[in-house]
This record gives sequence, structure tokens and C-alpha cells, in this order.
Amino acid sequence: MNHDKPTSTTTRRAAITGAAKTLAAIGVVVMGIRPAFAAKAAKDDFFFQDTPDESGKKCSGCINFSPKATGQYGADSGDCALVEGDVCTHCYCQGWTDKNDPKSKKAGT
Ligand code: SF4
Repeated sequence: MNHDKPTSTTTRRAAITGAAKTLAAIGVVVMGIRPAFAAKAAKDDFFFQDTPDESGKKCSGCINFSPKATGQYGADSGDCALVEGDVCTHCYCQGWTDKNDPKSKKAGT
């Protein structure tokens, strides 16, 4: 058998490998895992609000929150790894992820 020349087997293998890579990429999107290079989501997509939810969940308890000294909410401002724009310590959205849960992963990681 000549290994220098592409055969229908190697062509088929390349096609299957390409298809598997495409399906893996789709799986990442379907599972809601945002690659680090992806743009942040719109606040409306996650029903962002500038008050805690009824159970008291708020950005300050979310793994996606990073405080910052100034911004739209003054000294309570922060950045979010999931949604675009300023968020605040007492804000909330449906992307809330408990920062104290060891299984939690920051968006984009
Ligand atoms: S994901 Fe939602 S709750 Fe968490 S920091 Fe971002 S805006 Fe706040």
C-alpha cells in the first residue's frame, strides 16, 4: 500500500475529523460555554436588573463579578465576565453563579 498518496480512506478520515471538530465547536455553543474570545452577552439576554433577586442573590456573590473603583454605579461598580457594561455589587442577572461553590466556573474559562 502506498502511504504517500491520499486515498479514499485518508480523505474520509480528514472529513470525519473535520466534522468532529465542527460538532465539538457547536457543542461548546449549545452548552452555553462561552469561549474566552467571544463577545460578552447583552444584559437583556440575561434579564439583568440593578437590584438583587428575591432570594438575595447579587453580583457580589457571583463568580463572574470583578469589583472596580468607579463606573456607572460609583464605588459599587464592577465588571462582569458574562454580560457587557458596568454591573454593581447589588445587581443581579440570570447568569448568577455562586462564587462559593467549588464547582462554579467563571464565564469564558
Ligand atoms: S453574571 Fe449576572 S449576577 Fe453574575 S456578576 Fe454578571 S451580572 Fe452579576
